[in-house]
Amino acid sequence: MGITIHGVLERNARKYPEKEAFITATNRLTYVQMNRTCNQIARLLQEKGVKQGDRIAIMARNNENFFFAYFSLMKLGAIPMPMNIRLTPSELVVMLQNSNAAGAFYEAEAHGTVQTISDLYGLTHQLSIQEIVEASSVYSGENMNLPIHSSDVSEILFTSGTTGIPKGVVFNHDRMIALATTVSIEFALSNEDKMLTLMPLTHSAPINTFFLSGLYCGAAHVIGEFTPKNFLQLIHDEKPTFSFAAPVAYLLSSKDPELDTYDLSSIRVFAYGGGPLALASYERVKEAFKNENFYQVYGLTEAGPNGILLRPHEHLTKAGSIGKNPTVSMELRVVRADGSDVHPNEYGEVLLTGDSLMLEYDQNPEETNATIKNGWIHTGDIAYRDEDGYIYIVDRKKDVIISGGINIYPREIEEVLAKHPKVLESCVIGVPNEEWGETVKAVIVAKEDVTEGDLRDFVSPFLADYKRPRQYAFVMELPRNASGKILKQHVKTM
Ligand code: AMP
Repeated sequence: MGITIHGVLERNARKYPEKEAFITATNRLTYVQMNRTCNQIARLLQEKGVKQGDRIAIMARNNENFFFAYFSLMKLGAIPMPMNIRLTPSELVVMLQNSNAAGAFYEAEAHGTVQTISDLYGLTHQLSIQEIVEASSVYSGENMNLPIHSSDVSEILFTSGTTGIPKGVVFNHDRMIALATTVSIEFALSNEDKMLTLMPLTHSAPINTFFLSGLYCGAAHVIGEFTPKNFLQLIHDEKPTFSFAAPVAYLLSSKDPELDTYDLSSIRVFAYGGGPLALASYERVKEAFKNENFYQVYGLTEAGPNGILLRPHEHLTKAGSIGKNPTVSMELRVVRADGSDVHPNEYGEVLLTGDSLMLEYDQNPEETNATIKNGWIHTGDIAYRDEDGYIYIVDRKKDVIISGGINIYPREIEEVLAKHPKVLESCVIGVPNEEWGETVKAVIVAKEDVTEGDLRDFVSPFLADYKRPRQYAFVMELPRNASGKILKQHVKTM
């Protein structure tokens, strides 16, 4: 039997008792303190009737409360389901209902939301983290040693919801440990590392890929909320060695007018994922942070998230690619609709398999069977390989625009628009059209005044006529989800 995630916390408490391991805006806790508090909380929760297999939503910001809830539930064999505290009650109710949640473990800030929710959806357990922590201090802090197995369900995460209704993604401890060991190997992590996590812990990459790999190695964690200032200040003050963030977070931080007053030299790896960093943006952040060690991570929640890495030196030679080789625990294919492998420069779907895949979509065998076939995750990402085997994501399968029966990949058009000096970013979507089925529309965030005519003239040498946007719209900013991804579906309804 393998080790569980809370078993790793207990091990770290034995191995690194004095180590300051959880550094947040409000607290600095050692592994021993975190473990003891979680044992105390678990005993109180047990008394309140929380039991193995209960699914409990966690609604907390990026701070120690999140981990109090996360580990104490795991110690009981209950299943933590991190949910973004910024979602509306109606969005949360859908997730609670679909996952048969037995309760919510929430921070004071979410009190009103939980009240509203409980009127719409009965919650057996309404647990205020702060109150529970206070009340639990009289309980024993010894490990509970309940018979929780590494093959038991450990957590349910919700996919980012860039498309449709969020789906619960189910993991067990074994799969999560497989991911943690993979990331530890790929980035040579050790107990001397200090991981900076400012992206929401409700998203799979910050919690599973980066927090857990640091935990697995006995690293320390600096946890907070992202703002460019907070990012720069925390690196300066706490001297973390490893950062993971969305590309946009690095870009925004690189533009801080006081950038030069911060010492960022402690970071040995800047990892990013969820989307690419265009070559020009990569050059900008590399200069700004005086560091070349940028790793792009490609993956998806359903795979751990685990997948493919683009290493620092490859950023220059293979800009725009997601890399060539999968991580140590993964296998990769790019296939045609009939399942055969594509030739170089031919479009196909990316498939992944390995040790860290989800078990299933929660209570959704139909979606599970449509996504995992013969043990391979069908990512829904359309890509091609170049002559050297490097993979380029062309688009999400479901974002493809079909105009007059021809597939148009929005990413290709967005990349052309990004070359225009007055365009900050763009989002290209398909809009319904009687004649063509769909036509192309570009939604633009401009840096400076630019007209539709300018953009039409600019794109025409780069794009075949049928791909050129028929409509343009200008907005101040694009809607993004908590992990920084553009919400294409929202752009369509804007
Ligand atoms: P999520 O499950 O929320 O992490 O979303 C996974 C999806 O994000 C993938 O299927 C890709 O479409 C996209 N994605 C993740 N990483 C990258 C990357 N490095 N480059 C481009 N797209 C990415």
